[in-house]
Amino acid sequence: MPPFEPLPAVPDNNALELRILDLWEREGTFEQLRERNRGGPKWSFIDGPITANNPMAAHHCWGRALKDVFQRYKAVRGFDQRYQNGFDCQGLWVEVGVERALGLNSKQEIEEYGLAEFAERCKERVAEYSEVITEQSKRLGMWMDWDNDYYTFSDTNIEYIWRFLKTVHERGWLYLGHRSTEWCPRCGTSLSQHELINSYEEITHPSLFVRFPLKDRPGESLVIWTTTPWTLPANVAAAVKPDAEYGLRDNGEWVAVARHPGEEFVRTVRGEELVGLEYEGPFDYLPAQAEVVHRVIPWDDVSLEEGTGIVHIAPGAGSEDFELSKVHGLPVLAPIDEAGRFYADYGEFEGRSTEEVEKPVIVELDRRGRIVEHGSIVHRYPVCWRCATPLVFRIADDWLISCDEVREQMLAANATVEWTPDFYSKRMDDWLRNMDDWNISRRRYFGLPLPFYPCECGKLNVIGSLPELRERATAGLDQLQELHRPWVDEVTIACESCSRDVRRVAEVGDAWLDAGIVPFATLGWQNDEWQEGGYATGASAGLSGADLPDHAYWEQWFPGDWVSEMREQIRLWFYSQSFMSVTLTGRSPYNSVLTYEKLLDETGREMHRSWGNSIDAAEALDNMGADVMRLLFCAQVPSQNIRFGYGPAREIKRRLLTLWNSVSFFVTYANIEGYRPSYADLEAGPQTEELRTLDRWLVARTQQLVEETTTAYESFWTPGVTRAFDAFVDDLSNWYIRRSRRRFYEYDDAAFRTLWYALVQALRVIAPVMPFLAEQLWGNLVVEPCEDAPQSVFLASWPGTAQLENGLLEEVAAARRVVELGRQARSTSGLKHRQPLRRLVVQGTTLADAHMVEVAEELRVKAVEFGDIESTELLVKPNLPRLGPKLGKELGAVRAALQAGAFEELEGGRFRAAGHELDPDEVLVERRGLEGWAVAADHGVTVALETALDPELELEGRVLDLIHQLNSMRKDAGFAVTDRIRVTLPRSHAELVEEHGDWIAREVLAVGIEVGDVDEPQLAKA
Ligand SMILES: [Zn+2]
Ligand SMILES: [Zn+2]
Repeated sequence: MPPFEPLPAVPDNNALELRILDLWEREGTFEQLRERNRGGPKWSFIDGPITANNPMAAHHCWGRALKDVFQRYKAVRGFDQRYQNGFDCQGLWVEVGVERALGLNSKQEIEEYGLAEFAERCKERVAEYSEVITEQSKRLGMWMDWDNDYYTFSDTNIEYIWRFLKTVHERGWLYLGHRSTEWCPRCGTSLSQHELINSYEEITHPSLFVRFPLKDRPGESLVIWTTTPWTLPANVAAAVKPDAEYGLRDNGEWVAVARHPGEEFVRTVRGEELVGLEYEGPFDYLPAQAEVVHRVIPWDDVSLEEGTGIVHIAPGAGSEDFELSKVHGLPVLAPIDEAGRFYADYGEFEGRSTEEVEKPVIVELDRRGRIVEHGSIVHRYPVCWRCATPLVFRIADDWLISCDEVREQMLAANATVEWTPDFYSKRMDDWLRNMDDWNISRRRYFGLPLPFYPCECGKLNVIGSLPELRERATAGLDQLQELHRPWVDEVTIACESCSRDVRRVAEVGDAWLDAGIVPFATLGWQNDEWQEGGYATGASAGLSGADLPDHAYWEQWFPGDWVSEMREQIRLWFYSQSFMSVTLTGRSPYNSVLTYEKLLDETGREMHRSWGNSIDAAEALDNMGADVMRLLFCAQVPSQNIRFGYGPAREIKRRLLTLWNSVSFFVTYANIEGYRPSYADLEAGPQTEELRTLDRWLVARTQQLVEETTTAYESFWTPGVTRAFDAFVDDLSNWYIRRSRRRFYEYDDAAFRTLWYALVQALRVIAPVMPFLAEQLWGNLVVEPCEDAPQSVFLASWPGTAQLENGLLEEVAAARRVVELGRQARSTSGLKHRQPLRRLVVQGTTLADAHMVEVAEELRVKAVEFGDIESTELLVKPNLPRLGPKLGKELGAVRAALQAGAFEELEGGRFRAAGHELDPDEVLVERRGLEGWAVAADHGVTVALETALDPELELEGRVLDLIHQLNSMRKDAGFAVTDRIRVTLPRSHAELVEEHGDWIAREVLAVGIEVGDVDEPQLAKA
C-alpha cells in the first residue's frame, strides 16, 4: 500500500464535506477538542441569537462562518469555550410568520383564533425552524453545543428581563409616554426608533394643495400642501415661518414668496403678521371637529424647500404636530384606532383605513372648491420592517425607558470596546449620542410579557421574578404554564401600596430586550446555585437542556471577549445588550466586536426572492459547499458589502485547485519514491544538512505564513488570513515546486521533507477558515503515513514559528519580481515563451548568484547582467485608485505634468511631478526599449530582454517546441510519469537530434531517439 492515498484530479467538495462531517461525528472530534481544552484559559464568545422563524439565508452564513472560524482558531490554541448557540423566539418576526402560515391578517383575527392556540403555533414554528437552522449550521461546519442552545422565550430569559425592568423602574427611568409614534396599522403596534432605520420604500402618494379660507378676510385663503390627505380631517392649525415673507396673489391665495420667486404679488407681509388669524378648517362639519377653532401659529422649522411655506397641523397624526400642540395649547384629534381605521366621530370616514379615505377626502374638498392643485409624488416613506405596510403616526401610550442617565455611561463603556473594523466604534458612538428613549412596549401577543401592574391608587407595581409573582399572586397561578400570554394575563397580584387586586398591562416587550439580556440570563448572573437544565424553562422546556449556571460562572465568562454580528446590530443587539449591561453592571458586555456589512448578489444588487436573484443557505451549501462559502466570506473586507454568487464561488474553486494540485503532485511522487514523513518535522521544520537554499527559503516562507495568519486571526481580520494563504500557495506552487520538480522525479529526501512540511503547516493555519478540505488533506498527508499524529488537524496544536530568515525571503521576492517583469517584457515583444534568448539586463535591484541562475532558467536567457538600461521612451501615468484619494483636486495638475513628460525620476522608482513626490505604487510606468530590446518596469525595478535571435537560439527554440510536443503526446498516450519510451522523428528533425539528442532524451524519458520515414513523431513504450 502506498503511504499516501492518491487524490482525484479535482476535489468533489460536497462529497468530501459530508464524509468529513461523518468522520467528526464518528470520532467525536469536537468533544475530544473540548475535553482537551477544559481547564485551559477561557475565551468567552457570546452568540447573538438567530431568529428561529425561517431556514437560513445566505447572509446568515456569513456571520455564522465568521463565528465558527474564530471559535475554531481559539480552540486549536487551547482556549476553553462555551459554544452556546442562541435562538430568538418571540416578538413580531415569529408572530407575523405564524399569522401568514395561518392566513390571519389582523389582530382581531388572532384574538378570534385564540391566544393560547396562537402561542402554541408560535412555539411549534420555533421548534421547527430551530431544527432546520441547526442542521444547516452543522452543514456549514459550525461546531456548537447543539443540545444546549438558549431560547429567548425561556421563562428564565424572561425573568432576567423582568429583573432588569425592575431595576430600571427603581432608578426612575421607566415611564408611560403619551406621544405621537410611528405605527404599523397591520401589526397594530408602535415601533421604536431602532426599528425604523433602513425601513424605507419608494411610495407614490397624492400631492395635494388645499385652500383654507381666512375667516375675517373675505376672499383670502391660506394654501397648504400635504401628501397625507387622511390627516386633513384632524387638522387644527396652520403654521407659518414668522420671519419669512408671504405674498398675496390676486386670486386671494397666501403662499411663501420664497416658494414662488419671480411671481407678482398684490401685497407681501412677514409670517408673524399672519399669526393668530382664524380660518375655516377643511372638515369643520365632522363631529370630531365641533369644538376646534382653527388658527395660524408660528413655527420656525417651517420648510421653504417644499410645499407652500404654510404647513397644515394635525397633532393626532404627526409627531412634530404633536409637539407643537403642547407649545400652543392646540386640541389633539386622534382620528384612527390601533388598526389604522377612523373612529365614529369622523362621519363618512368611520371604519375606513387611511388609504381608503384618500379619495373621498379629495372628492369632498374638490366639491367645495378647496383644491388648488392635485397631483402625485414618489418619495421615500417609512414602512413596517416586518410586514412592509406603510407606517402612520398615531398618539399612543407607550412604555419607555429614559436614556438620559445611561447615555454617558454607555459612551464610556463603548470606549473600552475594540471594534473591527475600528471606525464602527464611532458609528456606535453616533448612535448612542442620538438615541431616543427606548420604546419597549408592543401591543402584540407572543412576546415578553411586560411585568407592569399599574394600580388605580397610583402605584406602578413591577414584578422582578417568577418567585415574586408567585408570592404576590392573588389568582391564576394554577393555570400558569409559562410566562406568556394568555396564561400570564390571568395572574393578578396584590398592589404593594393598597393591596387591591391588579392586572398586568396587555403589552409585550420589544424583542431586543430578549436578545439584550443574554449575557446575564444564560450565564446565571444572579443565581445562587447551579441548576442542571435550569435555563430550559417555560416554552423552551424540551427544546434545550441548557443549565442555569451560578454567579461564580457568570464572573468567569462575563464580559464576553468577542461578539460578531452584522453592522445593523449597532442600533439593535450591540445597543440593547450594552444598554442592559451598563444599567446592571456599569460596564460593556463585550470586549471586542467584529462587524460586517450587507450581502448582495454577485452583480451588486440586493437579493430578493421576487427578483429571482436570492440564494438561500440550503441552495448555496448544496451547490458551492461549505468551504467555498467560508472562503468567500473570509476573503471579504468586512466594511464593504459582499457580492455573493456562483461566479465568485467558481473563482474560489479555481484558486483552490492550485493547493489541490500541489498536494496531488506531492502525493504522486511520494508514493512513487516511497517517501515517509516524520511528524517531528512539524516542530521546527526539516533539520538536515541536505537542505538547499530553495528549501531553506520555503521553510522560512512557511514560518512567515504562520506568523502572518496568526497576526490576522489575533486581530479578527480574515482577509489577512486568506491573502497570506493565497500568496503562500502561489509561492509554493509557482516557485518552489516549479523550480524543484526534477528533485521529486529522483528521490531527494530534503525536497520531500520541505514540501511536506510546507503543505501541512499551510493546512493547519487555513483549517479554521476551510475546515473540511484541511481535515481531508490532513488525513491524506499526516494521519495515514504518520503513526503518532493527531487524528484531526484541530487536535494538533497551533504551529510555532522559528527565527525567520528575512534576508532569504527578500532575495527570493526580488527574484520573483524580476522573473515577473521578464515575462511582461517578453509578452510585449511577441516572442514565444519557449524561445531562448541571449540575455537579460536588470536595473534597480540586485540578486544573489544563486537566484541569478534561477532567473535565467525561468526566463530562458543565457545570462543575467546588471547595468543601466537605456530606454527611448518613459511613459508615466497616475495610478488613479491610489493617487485620486491622496491628491484630490491636485490630481489634474499631476496628471497633466506626467502626460507632458514634465517629471523627474527619483531613487527607488519614485517620481516628482507638479510639486508632488509620487511613490512607486502610485504610478504606472511603461518603458519602451531601444530597437532589439523589450523592457518592463515596476516599483523602481527595470528589466530589458535582448530580443535578437541567432541560429543557435533558433535551433534551441525548435528543440524546446519538440520536447513540449513529445511530452504532450506522452500524456495523451496515457504513459505513467515514470515510463521510459522510444521515439521516432521525421527526417526534418535530424538537425535537432544531431545537436541536442541527449537533451531531448532526458526531458522526455526516452531511452532511444531515431530518425525515420515518418511524417509525425511516434512514441512507443521502451
Ligand atoms: Zn407591520
Ligand atoms: Zn394600589
